[in-house]
Amino acid sequence: MFEPGVMFWADRDNLEMALSLGVKYGQLGIPDGMQLTAEAAAKWKAALDAAGFTLVTVFAAYEGEDYTDMATVAGSVGFIPPATRALRLARTLEVSDFAAQLGVGSIACHVGFVPEDAQDPDYLAVRQMVRDVCDHAAKHGQNFALETGQEPAGVLLRFIGDVDRANLRINFDPANLILYGTDEPIGALEQLAPLVVSVHCKDGDPPAAGVPGALGLERPLGKGSVGIGRFVETLRKVGFHGPLNVEREAEDQDARIRDLADGVRLLRSLVAV
Ligand code: MG
Repeated sequence: MFEPGVMFWADRDNLEMALSLGVKYGQLGIPDGMQLTAEAAAKWKAALDAAGFTLVTVFAAYEGEDYTDMATVAGSVGFIPPATRALRLARTLEVSDFAAQLGVGSIACHVGFVPEDAQDPDYLAVRQMVRDVCDHAAKHGQNFALETGQEPAGVLLRFIGDVDRANLRINFDPANLILYGTDEPIGALEQLAPLVVSVHCKDGDPPAAGVPGALGLERPLGKGSVGIGRFVETLRKVGFHGPLNVEREAEDQDARIRDLADGVRLLRSLVAV
C-alpha cells in the first residue's frame, strides 16, 4: 500500500469526502467532543467495511488545544498542561477502545512539547502518561504513535527509549519539523525510520525570521519547503510501506478539499516513478 491515503476528521469531514479523493486508506481524527459510543463505532465500522476503506490510525485531539504560536502550543497541546492531564489520559484510552472496535491497530496524538530535562516534573508526568497509554493500547494489540514536530529527532528518540514500551512508535509529519523549526525532515526520517509506523504528507515553510515565537506557514503539498519528491523517495528507500496520508489544515474547507485532491494526484505521480 505504498499509495496515497488521507488524514481526515470525523467532525469537519466524512468518509464520503475521503472516498471522493479516490483513496482506500486513511487516518481518522476524533475531535474531543465526539461521543464514542458502541453505536458510533458500529456505524463507522459498517461504513468503512462497505466502502472497502482501511483506517491505519485513529488520532485523538483535545478540547482547548491552540496552535496559534509556539507559546500557545506549549501551554495547551497534548499531555503537557497539568490541569487537563487526567481528562486527556482518560480520553486517549477511550479513543484506543473506539479504535479497537473499528479493528484499527494504531492510535496517535500530539503529546506536546516534552521538556528536554529528564528530571523536569512535566517530563516525568508525560512519560508516565505515555506509558499508561501504551499499556492500555497493548491490550488491544495497538501501537501508540507520537506525532513528530515539536522536538528534534534525537530528543524524540531519547524520550521513546526512556518510556521503554515496545508498542511506542512514530507518526512522521515532515512539515511539522519545518513549521516548528525543529529539524530537517529528510535526515530526521532517516534517523527515526525504524520506529515510523505511519506518515503525514504535509508541506510548509519555516517561521518568518525576526518574529519570535511564530510558527511557520502550512502549505498545499508540493508548494512548501519539505521537498515532497525527496520525502517519498526516502520513505521508499527506508522500506516504509505506506499509505502516504495527505494532510491539509487550511481553514477554508473548499480550498482544503481541493488541496487534498491535488496532493493525492501529486503523490500518485511520485509513487508511479
Ligand atoms: Mg500531522
